[in-house]
Amino acid sequence: MLRRDVDLTACNTLALPGQAARYARIDSPEQLGDPEHARSRRFILGGGSNLVLTGDFDGLVLHMAIPGRRLAGEDADAWYVEAGAGENWHDFVQWTLAQGWPGLENLSLIPGTAGAAPIQNIGAYGLEAGERIHSLTAFDFSAGRLVAFSRGDCRFGYRDSIFKQEGWHLSGRFAITAVTFRLPKAWAPVTGYADLARELDGTSTPSARDIADAVVRLRRRKLPDPVEIPNAGSFFHNPVVDAATAEALLAVHPALPRYPQADGRVKLAAGWLIDQAGWKGRNLGPVGMYEKQALVLVNRGGARGIDVQRTMSAVQADVLARFGVQLTPEPVFL
Ligand code: NAP
Repeated sequence: MLRRDVDLTACNTLALPGQAARYARIDSPEQLGDPEHARSRRFILGGGSNLVLTGDFDGLVLHMAIPGRRLAGEDADAWYVEAGAGENWHDFVQWTLAQGWPGLENLSLIPGTAGAAPIQNIGAYGLEAGERIHSLTAFDFSAGRLVAFSRGDCRFGYRDSIFKQEGWHLSGRFAITAVTFRLPKAWAPVTGYADLARELDGTSTPSARDIADAVVRLRRRKLPDPVEIPNAGSFFHNPVVDAATAEALLAVHPALPRYPQADGRVKLAAGWLIDQAGWKGRNLGPVGMYEKQALVLVNRGGARGIDVQRTMSAVQADVLARFGVQLTPEPVFL
């Protein structure tokens, strides 16, 4: 059912105010076939946990709430598990573990929906969703039908996929309706991150459940609950620079955390750069960087989109001035 002038404050975890001129909640893929949707300027909304609402939107918001979780198939090597796009990501991960299908445990407690997971290829503690995605189904508004994407079609990269690369997400050409994960039966724990290894200390052979519980404890300690302190998770990408730039920075800042990549470049920790630039726990108006994790931008109360943009620009300018590194925001701006 189409509604008009719908307040979106409760639909984004930064709790920024703004109205959608038109809004429809989508509970089944069939609803996407309405020709009115194809003609409209659209924005596809999931959990709103990676969104900066800059004001009112004069188009159509399609709020993806398609439910469903099921074992779609099984072979000798793996379980194939499907999630409807509107499934809450964390609940889905916990359900797979309860069924005895490990493989997504490192991604516990990431906010948002299953349908949004492939878009920015969510990742945490050494695992990316794209490593476990087998295929997905999306509604193509230009063709007026459902289309299938294989894992390769998705062109997954670091917090990146074809849905971001082509700007298709914003233009709303595709709405992801369901995602199928391939969970290998030959499970091996991913415990390379120092924080996670420390949290698991004493557990010599951790189970997937142990890892999920450790990740939940870690995230609860470091990250604000959006219900209490509105936020959109990590606000900036970790910058990846060439080896010479990393060397030059290291000469001036010997404590610089750095993670060499397979392609020879070096990933830097955006949170560390922000902290060193003096922004950890600092506010500009109603928007600041969180005191326990400087990478998380928080709404201290009553912020609007413009306040987020002001703090974001100030942080970017200070990091650029101090380190010569340009930070780019992770969320989508509407
Ligand atoms: P952290 O442990 O304080 O480490 C800071 C950064 O260093 C991380 O962002 C991580 O990059 C990188 N890093 C740490 N150990 C690494 C290793 N062994 N190999 C390669 N890179 C390493 O990070 P944190 O803020 O507490 O976050 C922990 C994990 O949760 C990270 O994977 C982070 O991405 C994830 N997380 C994601 C979001 C989100 O909204 N997307 C929000 C919070 C946390 P990576 O980010 O590339 O892993």
